Amino acid sequence: MPAAPSSLPPPDAAAKKAVRALSAPQKALRKLGLVRDMDLALHLPLRYEDETHITRLRDAREGDEVQIEGVVRHQEVAAGGRRQLLVTLDDGSGTCLLRFFNFYPSLMKQMAVGARLRVRGQLRSGLAGPVMLHPAVRAAGAPLPERLTPVYPATAALAQAYLRKAVQSGLARADASGQLGETVPPDLAAGMFAGLKGAAGVHPQSPPPTLREALFFLHQPPPDAPLAALQERVHPAWLRLKAEELLAQQLSQWRARQERAALAAPALHVRPDGLHEKLLAALPFALTAAQRRVSEEIARDLARPQPMHRLLQGDVGAGKTVVAALAACVAMDSGWQCALMAPTEILASQHFDKLTQWLAPLLQARGQRVAWLTGSQKKKERAAALQAIESGEAALVVGTHAVIQQQVNFARLGLAVIDEQHRFGVAQRLALRQKLAGQEPHLLMMSATPIPRTLAMSCYADLDVSTLDELPPGRTPVLTKLIASHRRGEVIERLRQQLRRGAQAYWVCPLIEESEALDLQSATQTHAELAAALPGLNVGLLHSRMPAADKKAVMDAFASGQMAALVSTTVIEVGVDVPNASLMVIEHAERFGLSQLHQLRGRVGRGSAASACVLLYEVPEGGRLGEVARERLKAMLETHDGFEIARRDLALRGPGEFLGERQSGAALLRFADLQQDEPLIEWARQAAPQMLARYPALAGQHVQRWLGARMDYLKA
Ligand code: ADP
Ligand code: MG
Repeated sequence: MPAAPSSLPPPDAAAKKAVRALSAPQKALRKLGLVRDMDLALHLPLRYEDETHITRLRDAREGDEVQIEGVVRHQEVAAGGRRQLLVTLDDGSGTCLLRFFNFYPSLMKQMAVGARLRVRGQLRSGLAGPVMLHPAVRAAGAPLPERLTPVYPATAALAQAYLRKAVQSGLARADASGQLGETVPPDLAAGMFAGLKGAAGVHPQSPPPTLREALFFLHQPPPDAPLAALQERVHPAWLRLKAEELLAQQLSQWRARQERAALAAPALHVRPDGLHEKLLAALPFALTAAQRRVSEEIARDLARPQPMHRLLQGDVGAGKTVVAALAACVAMDSGWQCALMAPTEILASQHFDKLTQWLAPLLQARGQRVAWLTGSQKKKERAAALQAIESGEAALVVGTHAVIQQQVNFARLGLAVIDEQHRFGVAQRLALRQKLAGQEPHLLMMSATPIPRTLAMSCYADLDVSTLDELPPGRTPVLTKLIASHRRGEVIERLRQQLRRGAQAYWVCPLIEESEALDLQSATQTHAELAAALPGLNVGLLHSRMPAADKKAVMDAFASGQMAALVSTTVIEVGVDVPNASLMVIEHAERFGLSQLHQLRGRVGRGSAASACVLLYEVPEGGRLGEVARERLKAMLETHDGFEIARRDLALRGPGEFLGERQSGAALLRFADLQQDEPLIEWARQAAPQMLARYPALAGQHVQRWLGARMDYLKA
């Protein structure tokens, strides 16, 4: 061997070079994640076009998508008005006008008078008979395909014809090399459709098609295939693929669980006469039954020498913070540190204040303290905090995600609490775990956006979930009102009366600055306007572009009651807790998401005073509110239940909001639908542990087939 190994380029450079050598469509395939033959085989059609037969114009109806074959009788470029190419096609049973607004000389040549053409498109009625707008055109005479033509999800850089060929040959290669074999053992596959009571064309007892059968059916359906069942993805072939996908998801999450179970974590216990006991005694309220129950669930996990991964979900105002504080006490009682992270500085600083108030006196006796860590901190202050974290003097560290950045070295981190976890990205969570490699802390994630059941069952199967399903006593439900924006003046007048009586209010605006495109009321402008309309009252302004110190000053003034009204952008959306505030006005409520509206409304109704939430909405000029916007506002009027809101939100806009960044690492579910496919989710949940226990090799193959390189993200 003449060449020394060191003279070779590193492997990733070689890989980069190989990618550079790819053609543009090959690169486009890669972008879609279509690398292996199996990836191509699993790239399923969105819909189909029927090119298997020719329709005679006489038999075609208006609105039909048809393919006709005939001779060009006439061609002209009409110039009056918009330039267009008009071609008359005669198929012997009738004529049809083909109309093109975009055309090149080559197209005109192809459609010269006398040419025989096969065209396909939707038939519409025109002044002088049937018309087709921009039909697909090719020469007549080629043999007709025997199968429906699939249309695949593509990108602008990827022509359908190229993609179609790539998929068909990928499928053929995967088949030839034996990659389409069954991974799901027959005894588990047998029950796949058992929960599907009478779904279209599916008999629960009938054996599902094999993966190979299902794939060939979906990529090459016969002309008589039931198009509606395919379109709605309820055909057995679709159900088979969805079940396979859901099984892969369950398997990978079960595996993540098993891997975690093999890791070591400190076993944390409550100590008699420790912080946990002292905090409970010092709290100005008694825990609700739900708080006691979830605290016990958490304590049981913490006592195990394996890392906890638990999600604590509870509606806004359910009292998650104190549960987190109690968990932190368990860690500190056992001589370990706890880190508590929040997505915004406002929320983090509020947690810091509260936890300091509760715990600082107790920690001081032990020579320890609560440390504050954030990105906007002064260098010196940060250095001192880092020092205290490293020495262990800081038993509790509260901050934004700055806490989990590289330079932070915990002496003994035993528990990490992530508040409003859906706001944190996968990357940040990965960073947290890498940072602590070798020494796994317990992880408690908290969320005020309840995860709908089916989503919890599928995408969060690797987590344990605790639910706070009870609000602290004495809360009165928030009265919600929907008011058109032209009555804004009346709302301000009512607000003035309430504030004069000592109430406090939030006024939420969607954007910070005037944006011509969106024409939203800016917070700054609204602030000026309200300040003028409410003389003698202290009206503050809070938005995300203010320096952290200013934000804190404003929040403090509002929390202490010095400020009557707070005009704000959605920076107050998560977590902010000012129990005295009892009024919430949301401007342009029609522009907010449902969960977001629910979160915002949750800022009031936290104390004993009767609270109200006014949703100001604006109907576009000359139009009406969109369907989805109306559904959202209706839901806000109809329910206060976070789970019901979550369920409706999932129906309105899919799982994106719930998953947060969780979805971006891996398109977790491409085919299965959380609403529609619950019975298949149930099947996959039961099949996964059995498959891991009895057929571990097949389980590995199955996950590899479906998820390939995306595995890493699922563990985050
Ligand atoms: P969230 O679950 O939205 O994070 P918080 O932890 O901010 O809710 O709690 C909301 C408010 O309820 C806080 O002011 C908190 O002190 C108070 N609280 C929490 N638990 C109880 C309880 N058991 N009884 C009375 N008030 C409580
Ligand atoms: Mg909270």
